[in-house]
Amino acid sequence: MKIPFIDLHAQYMSIQSEVDDVVKSVLSQASYIGGHYVRHFEALFAEQLQIHHCIGVGNGTDALYTILSALDLPAGAEVITPAMSWISSAETITQAGARVVFCDVDPDTYILDPQRVAEKITDRTAAVVAVHLYGQAAPMMALAALCRERKLYLIEDCAQAHFTQEGGQYAGTWGDAAAFSFYPTKNLGAYGDAGCIVTRHEALAERMRRLANHGARVKDDHLFEGFNSRLDTLQAAILSVKLTHLHGWNTRRAAIAELYKSLLQGVEKIVLPAVRSDTIHTYHIYAIRARRRDALKQYLEANGILTVIHYPVALPNLPAYSYLGHRPEDFPVSSGLQEEVLSLPIYPELTDEQVRYVSKNILEFYAKQGV
Ligand SMILES: *Cc1c(COP(=O)(O)O)cnc(C)c1O
Repeated sequence: MKIPFIDLHAQYMSIQSEVDDVVKSVLSQASYIGGHYVRHFEALFAEQLQIHHCIGVGNGTDALYTILSALDLPAGAEVITPAMSWISSAETITQAGARVVFCDVDPDTYILDPQRVAEKITDRTAAVVAVHLYGQAAPMMALAALCRERKLYLIEDCAQAHFTQEGGQYAGTWGDAAAFSFYPTKNLGAYGDAGCIVTRHEALAERMRRLANHGARVKDDHLFEGFNSRLDTLQAAILSVKLTHLHGWNTRRAAIAELYKSLLQGVEKIVLPAVRSDTIHTYHIYAIRARRRDALKQYLEANGILTVIHYPVALPNLPAYSYLGHRPEDFPVSSGLQEEVLSLPIYPELTDEQVRYVSKNILEFYAKQGV
């Protein structure tokens, strides 16, 4: 049996006529930037997330950069962000003129924990960028309280967390602003690059909308310099169609996670994802921690199953951050995770039979190894 890590073609097949119809209607109107479809998607996404403002931008990285730029952080400001993430949550801090301060993650949930964050706060700290890694809710209630008390901005990276919840409240609605990515493989993915920002602050929303459009709301009305990062009309139209399926897709992801859990629970050599209490995990990624991870990955591949490592090098250990002078021991949890995490296939179109096949092969690997 061949099991790809993700199957975007199968998903397109499942919604082909709806997508083709909306693409045709955009093309026939020959309006490719802005316009009705973009406004419609922004309104729809904000409404479903129960937040006031949504601003479409070119991708998730630009969403983070736009937020951080709009905050006008003082020179030399420090921004705390997890050591375990995709590079976007860190590189955009530098691009906005601030200094990246990495924080190690919780050993059970792989996300920021408020205690470790508090220890990293100095006189120069201006903000915290929390990441809802893999779809797991970062502890937003506690982080929001901490940031309020220490007068720090709180930014959420929701690129992997479309409709993740804590205490019945959506990820993306806790902080001052949140970035979403609609990269094709995300839980809500466009057919190219796309992203958005959400916020409840009106003035910040206005500033971010201008920043991402050359400082202008309408043509030639440049209050300040900005840049060009807009959500394409075509992508917005496709996203509006796909948004109507997202709840069902997330439900299917959760069912797959349950099935993996029931089949793999009790295997001593692996650790299954923990889910924080009173949260809804959206399982963008189903990452196990595995003894002899690289050999397991090879064994699965030899049996037709593709897996991915998110992420093989924790951020502080990357050459890009060698200037910070960190050693792997400075971030023991993240540095340990990079050797052990393995993401199993999880996407709505994956069948129960395929999940059983993946699980059976994992069990066989450890039985054969006798490790
Ligand atoms: C995908 C991702 C991003 C970046 O999104 P793009 O749309 O690819 O720019 C940022 N942060 C995290 C955690 C991501 O997974």
